[in-house]
Amino acid sequence: MSTIYLDHQATTPTDPAVVEAMTFAATQCYANPSSPHAAGIRAFREVERARGAVARFIGAGRGEICFTSGATEGNNLAIKGVVGTGAARHVVTTAVEHKSVLDSCRALREAGHEVTVLPVDGEGRVDPDRVAAALRPETALVSVMLANNEIGTVQPVARIAELTRAAGVPLHCDATQGVGSLPVDVRTLGADLLTFSGHKIYGPKGVGVLYVSHRLSDRAPLVPQLHGGGQERGLRAGTLNTAAVIGLGTAVGVLAACREAEAVRLAGLRELFLTELSGLVPYVLNSGVGPGFLPHAVNLSFPGVDAQQLLLEVADVAVSTGSACNSAAQEPSHVLLAIGLPPERVRSSVRVSFGRFTTEADAVRAARALATAAAPGGSPTTA
Ligand code: PMP
Repeated sequence: MSTIYLDHQATTPTDPAVVEAMTFAATQCYANPSSPHAAGIRAFREVERARGAVARFIGAGRGEICFTSGATEGNNLAIKGVVGTGAARHVVTTAVEHKSVLDSCRALREAGHEVTVLPVDGEGRVDPDRVAAALRPETALVSVMLANNEIGTVQPVARIAELTRAAGVPLHCDATQGVGSLPVDVRTLGADLLTFSGHKIYGPKGVGVLYVSHRLSDRAPLVPQLHGGGQERGLRAGTLNTAAVIGLGTAVGVLAACREAEAVRLAGLRELFLTELSGLVPYVLNSGVGPGFLPHAVNLSFPGVDAQQLLLEVADVAVSTGSACNSAAQEPSHVLLAIGLPPERVRSSVRVSFGRFTTEADAVRAARALATAAAPGGSPTTA
């Protein structure tokens, strides 16, 4: 039986339209988009078409889009790039950010900057007033994610942006997890910098976007972290990954057409999954499943069950424990700890996320398979 893939927060399958666009790019558009000959100009035009699609998708201008290798690079560039610009030496972020944000901040701290890591409430949400209270005259940047990759909590980014704007402090938003299912428009969100990644929206891996608002770059350009050929207006040197950029352009086009309807359908699949599960095995929710949370994901614990073992047993269902990166490190999730869950509940936590190609039959089958393995006697316990 084929694997039921329910790990869309780790990565998404590539949409067939994206594969088609990338095949075209790899075979017809292989010239260097910086080359001045006709083939190069053709590749350049395709890249710029993708840039236009990405810009429209988030309500930005073309000149505000910088292609990167993914959200990790985008987050590093946003955080180190802004803080590296001036005398301001203080950064504010939250305890539930992705490691690429938290570790970028840690690197800054080791270099002598000050970092404030704000706590979150039991749902994983940061209080905008706490953000405002943390701002100082020397604050260079605030970085708050749009939606969490482990528990789906949506942060009040627009409200935080009002406060940071009033204080004259740039705001960075890691929108990697939100952009696939929430409306993301930089004009309403108000962030000065925004990151996302191709592989979370049915596009290719190894490509991402850093939006840098003109408001910010006109005032103080970001310090590039890669030096070389001056591509991406000097912000990110290196020959563009043309096929991936073109694939990303297609991915945002497909997403724009189906996002709203998909968000409703996937919330329905999640409900079906949880209803099926309820009749079969005890579980507790670690994430919310209503407004203020991503519609397609849920984090839950099976009391007394070792989730790592559970995953190995349910070989035909792909779900994860915590975030994919944390799973590899086998560390308890910093996000679940930050919302106050006890270690044994963290050890028994499973993250399930539905996606574009998930069917109702998949949701039901996955619930039954997980329940069988998690039922008393079905899986090794944490004891
Ligand atoms: N931020 C968040 C919120 C993420 O979920 C991820 C991917 N797990 C990243 C950043 C890193 O993205 P990428 O894999 O494109 O480097």
